[in-house]
Amino acid sequence: MNYTQYTQWTKNIFLVDMTRELTRPFSELATKGIAKYLAEGKKILIINNKKWRSSWVMCHDCGHIPHCTHCDISIAWHQDVHQELFGICHICKTHYTLDTRCAECDSEDIALYGIGNQQLTDHIQTQRDQTPLLIQSNLANSPTKIKKLQQTIQDKNPAIILGTALLSVPIQWWTPDLILVVSADLWLHSPHYAASWHNFCFLSDIISYQSCEQMILQSYQPEHRSIHYACKGDVESMQSEELAQRQEMQYPPVTQMCVLLHKHEIEERLYTSTHKLYQELLYLRDQYEMDDLEIYATPPMIYKMYGKYRYHIILKGSRLRQFLDIAYSKLKIHTRGFKVDREPKGV
Ligand SMILES: [Zn+2]
Ligand SMILES: [Zn+2]
Repeated sequence: MNYTQYTQWTKNIFLVDMTRELTRPFSELATKGIAKYLAEGKKILIINNKKWRSSWVMCHDCGHIPHCTHCDISIAWHQDVHQELFGICHICKTHYTLDTRCAECDSEDIALYGIGNQQLTDHIQTQRDQTPLLIQSNLANSPTKIKKLQQTIQDKNPAIILGTALLSVPIQWWTPDLILVVSADLWLHSPHYAASWHNFCFLSDIISYQSCEQMILQSYQPEHRSIHYACKGDVESMQSEELAQRQEMQYPPVTQMCVLLHKHEIEERLYTSTHKLYQELLYLRDQYEMDDLEIYATPPMIYKMYGKYRYHIILKGSRLRQFLDIAYSKLKIHTRGFKVDREPKGV
């Protein structure tokens, strides 16, 4: 083992740099850890926040990735009880069947990517001859189901439990000796301005709530502050750096922010309505001499949802509330089909 591949943060926390690893989905350290703990009859908790089989399908010849016809996201692939693959859009829930040929170039060279928990289960069964107990949100979304799940855990006393981020909360009756977080970068691809903070909280929950002999965190961004500070348990440094970045980028709580969302089935109409309101807002800002107010129009991370195209107008500034009161009465925003989000979750 090359020691630059991972960093030992504390007596029991190991952070693996996946960019230096040759094996997927488990790093060399994780593979050895799983084998060792199983041989010793100990318990292993594996957290991977993808409950499906594969996150997307891609054509090797032209790079085409099938997307939902109503939403601007790739189709995720699940396996039913008969091991048959079916696609589902995680936004509008439309179901799809898997074509054996690429829809763009007719190539048969297509493959599944993005390993989900259904695939991880098969991987563990093949490699270790063990069937992990799979825990997903649909098994724990009511008090009755949680009670039933706890009974199953108590009865089966599984060697391995595999599940999504909901497992960051400790499981009653079952204490793991090894915890493996397949991706410690869970929130880092999110468009939310507080993504780093959410990632820090996700990892801190696992680290602080779960006491175990060894904890392995796998990451493609091991230098990221949310991961470093979670490993060190350094809330203060994380908070002060997060605040400094919000100050620099002018995000809440440093300033007020509001997102106006417009949706339309016809792209041209979306542009016309959004552009018109954008120009009116700029004019109003000049008229009331609020130059410090930042106003810009931009498409959101997911441009199309449920068959409708979407566009944002983002407003930021310390006098935003005052400006919005004026804009509401002068421009009648609420009657023009714009959804006003004063506490935006993603931008
Ligand atoms: Zn193709
Ligand atoms: Zn969809």
